[in-house]
Amino acid sequence: MAQNKTALVLSAHSADFVWRAGGAIALHQKKGYDVTIVCLSYGERGESAKLWKQEGCTLEHVKTERRKEAEAAAKALNAHDIQFFDLGDYPLEIDREAKFRLVDVIRKVQPAFMMSHSHYDPYNTDHSYATRILMECRMIAQAWGHNPGQKVLGAPQLYLFEPHQTEQMGWKPDVFLDITEVWDNKRAAIECMAGQEHLWDYYTNLAQNRGNHFRRNSGGQAGGRNARYAEGFQSVYPRTVDEL
Ligand SMILES: [Zn+2]
Repeated sequence: MAQNKTALVLSAHSADFVWRAGGAIALHQKKGYDVTIVCLSYGERGESAKLWKQEGCTLEHVKTERRKEAEAAAKALNAHDIQFFDLGDYPLEIDREAKFRLVDVIRKVQPAFMMSHSHYDPYNTDHSYATRILMECRMIAQAWGHNPGQKVLGAPQLYLFEPHQTEQMGWKPDVFLDITEVWDNKRAAIECMAGQEHLWDYYTNLAQNRGNHFRRNSGGQAGGRNARYAEGFQSVYPRTVDEL
């Protein structure tokens, strides 16, 4: 039986994958990939202000609500799997044991590509930290001396998804993905994030702007594709090709 292709999305907090890679997740699921999402934390301290404004709110309550929102969003995107490491946020801290746990997931999934945050984020160091950890875990997963007998990882591309306040992050997209056909899934996933309603329209506008960039870069007026919604990504590793 042929196995589906796979992908892995690493989200520092439980909602990040929705705004930044929701279209990529839904689209690749539609194309027959099994996409696994790993949320390192729930963003329970730093990205849940609306919940904390409720009287009598507790950390456990916020985590439960954030988990429910993220699971509903993953379902709206038809994601194959979502896992929560519950490592805490603001600051996110990952010890050796948690790194090996992530390496185990990477080796089990054997992703064709991975996604995570921008390299630099002066507003949110949890985000850039998650990507640094993912690069470290990619390296460990490629090491033949780590847990000999497990299937060693190849060289999946790492795509950095679009941060908030894009220009401040030194993030520069080199790939645009047309997500028009799964936009309804992404918008539905966005609307699962009740605690961050102030971001819904912002990320709709962003997808439209990136749709414009897709159109321009796919040929513009001279035959470009009429993408209405897109996501931008910055790739980290070189591609290996037979033709240009
Ligand atoms: Zn975040």
